Amino acid sequence: MSERPVNTGDPLPRNVASQIAHRDVETLTRPPLIQAIEIASVLLFLGGESYLAYRLWPYLGQTSWFVVAAAALTAYVFADFISGFFHWMADTWGSVETPFAGKLFVRPFREHHVDQKAITRHGFVEVNGGNCAISLVPLLSTHMFAIETGDVTQTLGAFFFGTFLFWIFLTNQFHSWAHQDVRPRIVTWLQKMHVILPPEHHQVHHAAPYMKYYCITNGWLNEPLHRLRFFRALERIISATTGMIPRKDDIGEKAAVAIAEADARTLSPAAKEQPVRTR
Ligand SMILES: [Zn+2]
Ligand SMILES: [Zn+2]
Repeated sequence: MSERPVNTGDPLPRNVASQIAHRDVETLTRPPLIQAIEIASVLLFLGGESYLAYRLWPYLGQTSWFVVAAAALTAYVFADFISGFFHWMADTWGSVETPFAGKLFVRPFREHHVDQKAITRHGFVEVNGGNCAISLVPLLSTHMFAIETGDVTQTLGAFFFGTFLFWIFLTNQFHSWAHQDVRPRIVTWLQKMHVILPPEHHQVHHAAPYMKYYCITNGWLNEPLHRLRFFRALERIISATTGMIPRKDDIGEKAAVAIAEADARTLSPAAKEQPVRTR
């Protein structure tokens, strides 16, 4: 798949770049408790996935391989969507100070916008631990499918969700490779073919204020979601109902408010004179 020119569409206030204020990277450290949780999560996740594969193996052969391949591909597209959704959530809402989840899930995203190469210096557990942790409960649910009854729906259901979680597991690895200067040849080839997240494609997200191209598994859904203004619509709904300002914790209140006000003006010129209320 070749790279198409990217639509950079969103109307932004001219001076927004100069208003962006990131957190100090020195404060974005990873506490020892989080490291321990990440190690345990990786081990539990890989154990749970292996056991699921062991349970599925005798029954998968009874299903058409075309259906199995279609399920794996659909799970790959779904994983790209979920990667974008969680990335958008962590970039846009919440704070590093949120108890527990702030350090485990939000902190890596804040650090990544301040120092996008930091991910390339992280070990396997730091890159993939968060995704393993968030996948443990869904993985446990996947084991609830009655695979051993031989029912094709149960087998395919467990296979679909198990494969989806495996793609989620690989997502931050694909993301890390998109930032590496040196990587295995096969990885570069997969990126060129746009089978996994290509570096140039992902750089669209890293242009401040980081408002588009959130999907980081393969990035196939980035352009469609951007054209649909999917995440902007969600932000408007959440802001209207809660009063929260998107990206306030990531780029600072000043820039976040400037963007929210510009966004409101595109919706209604009457909103021009009404400043966005902050909470
Ligand atoms: Zn981001
Ligand atoms: Zn990145």
